[in-house]
This record gives sequence, structure tokens and C-alpha cells, in this order.
Amino acid sequence: MTEIKVIGVIGGGQMGSGIAQLAAAYGHDIWLIDSDPAALTKATNSISSSIQRLVSRNLLSREVGVDALQRLKCSTDLKELHSADVIIEAVVESEDVKRKLFLELDKIAKPSAILASNTSSIPITRLASSTTRPEKVIGMHFMNPPPIMKLVEIVRGVDTSDETFDAIKTLAERLGKTLICSQDYSGFIVNRLLMPMINEAFFALYTGVATKEDIDTGMKLGTNHPMGPLELADLIGLDVCLSIMKVLQSGLGDDKYAPCPLLVQYVDAGRLGRKRGLGVYDYR
Ligand code: NAD
Repeated sequence: MTEIKVIGVIGGGQMGSGIAQLAAAYGHDIWLIDSDPAALTKATNSISSSIQRLVSRNLLSREVGVDALQRLKCSTDLKELHSADVIIEAVVESEDVKRKLFLELDKIAKPSAILASNTSSIPITRLASSTTRPEKVIGMHFMNPPPIMKLVEIVRGVDTSDETFDAIKTLAERLGKTLICSQDYSGFIVNRLLMPMINEAFFALYTGVATKEDIDTGMKLGTNHPMGPLELADLIGLDVCLSIMKVLQSGLGDDKYAPCPLLVQYVDAGRLGRKRGLGVYDYR
């Protein structure tokens, strides 16, 4: 089986930085790549403060925290990934952007490297078709935030080999995660169920059924969800939610998954959620 020592993570946003932190804490050497140097500075700062928080709460030993920070290298140059055994992409949820990236990665990565995507919803088979190694392409969908959330959803494309599946399953288990496996249809399991609920919460707000606070409290106290759907949308990022709804709409059926106009309007206004300080709620 492929031995996984060096992991490349592309995209230093909330998911990529969390995946890099998690894998470094489990002893992997990490290259974190982002096309935006400012995103890499932000990622390094957030990884370092997250590790400090985990150490101060005794959830991570100081030695492991220091070692993880030393294992992390950042760059804007994709070519640094030539030595990676596994590359996990976590760039924006856009099929165009991801397909172009997979085309480039296929040329840069060593022939034995596995190319994994953290996509929330885009079929893996479509991303794999940009490469000459579809048997080595797989979905490895972490939940937000990756160091804390226990689940990884694994998605096999049509041509994903058993060897690739076994290597990623073993990696996810070594990172302390519980796995679920999904067939390769838009939204997979988690977002097929979660996003229509979030979208419906936006419709409830848009049509004046209730206030945002009552919608969230209703789902927290009424159905035992740890967060309300609108709070959760702010955590995920409203741009990410909208992109996922569009993937569901085009992949599974136009009417049922049409994004709520209020969600579209918030994204148009740059109200992207917690990462921008303003979404459904104001965090400033
Ligand atoms: P984000 O907006 O926080 O970060 C995306 C990062 O990708 C940015 O730093 C951007 O500069 C970088 N980027 C964009 N294009 C690039 C390119 N071509 N090369 C290198 N870097 C590039 O987004 P996020 O919330 O971290 O989501 C990333 C991926 O993870 C998406 O596919 C999303 O669907 C998925 N995901 C998100 C969540 C969530 O809760 N936000 C959960 C699970 C999966």
C-alpha cells in the first residue's frame, strides 16, 4: 500500500488550514499551498493559535504542537508538491477552478501520488476526468472544523481504484476519523441532506415565517441540533452554501434545489458569514 509521509494541501482557507493542522499534528510533513500569499499568512496565524488553544486545554501535548508547526511549510508555488504522496485540494467550490487545478496537478505530482478533493458537492468523476490518473482520484470530504469534527466522507469516482480507496481510508482512520462512503452523486450524503435544510431556513426567513433567532432556536431546542441552520450557514460560508445549492440544482433537479433569493442576495452583498464578520448575523 502507498506509504503516506508528505501531504500537500491546496487552499489555505478555513478547511485547508484545518486539514493541514490536523495532518501535521499526526506526524505528516505538510506543504500548504495557496495562490494568495495573504491567505497563507492568515492560515499560519490561525493554525498557530488553534494549536496553542488545544495545548492550553490539554487536548494536545506541547511537544506534538511544536512538532506540528515545524512540519508545516507554505508556498504559493504548486511545484513544491512534486514530492507529496497525497494531495488534498480545498480551494473554492467551483468546478472550473478545481478542474484546472487537477489538470496542473496531474503534471506536477509524482505518478504514484493520490489526488484527493475536499469538495462538498462536485462529482469526483468530473474532476478525475481532467487527469490521466482517474484511478488515483478520490473525494476526501472533511467537516468544519477538520481538527475537531469526527467525520470524513469518502467518495469514489467511477474509476477510483481499490488501492486508492484503501490508502485514503487508512489515512482518514489514522487521523482519528470515522468514515462514511458515498456514491458519486452531487452533494454526496451530508450536503444532500444538510443544504436543502439550510436553504429552506433561508426561505423561512425570506418569506417572513419567523425571525432568524426563532428559526435557529427552533431547530436547536426542537430537534437537538447543536447549531441552528442559519448560524451553521454563517460558519460554513454563505458563498460555499450557494455554490453547493447550484451543484445540487444542476446535478439533481432544477426546482427542488433552487437557491433561495435571500441567500443569493447576501452573497451578492459580500455577506459571506463569519469569515467576513457579517452574514445572517453580525459578528463585528
Ligand atoms: P475558503 O474560501 O475559506 O478558502 C478557499 C481558499 O482557496 C482561499 O484561501 C483561496 O485563496 C484559495 N484558492 C482559490 N483558488 C485557488 C487556486 N487555484 N490555487 C490555490 N489556492 C486557491 O473556502 P473553504 O470554506 O475552506 O472551502 C474550501 C473547499 O472545502 C470547498 O470545496 C468547500 O466546498 C469545501 N468544504 C467547505 C466546508 C465549510 O464548512 N466551509 C466544509 C467541508 C468542505
